[in-house]
Amino acid sequence: MRIETFPGVATALPAQILHAALNFVLPPRCASCGVQTGSTGGLCTECWTQARFIAAPQCCQCGYPFELDFGVGVRCGACLSRPPYFDRARAAVAYDDRIAQIVIAFKHGDRTDLAPGLAAWMRRAGGELLQEADIIATVPLHRRRLFSRRYNQSSLLGQPLARAAGIPFIGDLVIRQRETDSQGHLSPSARRRNVEGAFRVAAQHKDTLKDKRVLLIDDVLTTGATVNAIARRLKREGARTVDVLTLTRVVRETSVS
Ligand SMILES: [Zn+2]
Ligand SMILES: [Zn+2]
Repeated sequence: MRIETFPGVATALPAQILHAALNFVLPPRCASCGVQTGSTGGLCTECWTQARFIAAPQCCQCGYPFELDFGVGVRCGACLSRPPYFDRARAAVAYDDRIAQIVIAFKHGDRTDLAPGLAAWMRRAGGELLQEADIIATVPLHRRRLFSRRYNQSSLLGQPLARAAGIPFIGDLVIRQRETDSQGHLSPSARRRNVEGAFRVAAQHKDTLKDKRVLLIDDVLTTGATVNAIARRLKREGARTVDVLTLTRVVRETSVS
């Protein structure tokens, strides 16, 4: 017997109509300050003009933005004095009070609708890294934090990036094997000690990892201690390269180490 299928009401509606209807009920708001804006997942004009998007010239390794163009392949002082284990780190925008509001809204405020827009910023900042990656992975949350936040915000950024780049997303590649103290108030050297040995590679992915170029996704890069510890572990397990792409990074006088 031949069964005719008829599209349901929801599938009959073009996506644009659904989108417009949703915008009517829930008008899009600025990702940073919350004022009403014209587009979903974007910033209002005021916040957009204030945001410091990061681009070249920058340290070829950690991505720290330079005031002057010193040429291609130049490292910052921090990377020269204490070379990180990761190959390259890039971030879309410099961390400040406005960006902090976005991170908080995304992390704790259930603004998961921001993910595609934020991922698009990251795609611009990390185009080369995305092109060259074999695998996209994320910095794991501790189980307790995952429970309190209900989702890993880095996965929400990593999944659309992997889809757009056409490469596999492995959300559980890296496992946090012991709880680390909150990093917020620790000095850079204390952060390094805090995260050393805190991560391992999931047993089921060890073979997959061999000779692969891994791109790690996180929301914020502060000192880089966490991604550095993960990069070290991934390389010990056979990763060929480890790059890091974050939504935002702290830009201060002394760079990451
Ligand atoms: Zn705004
Ligand atoms: Zn650097």
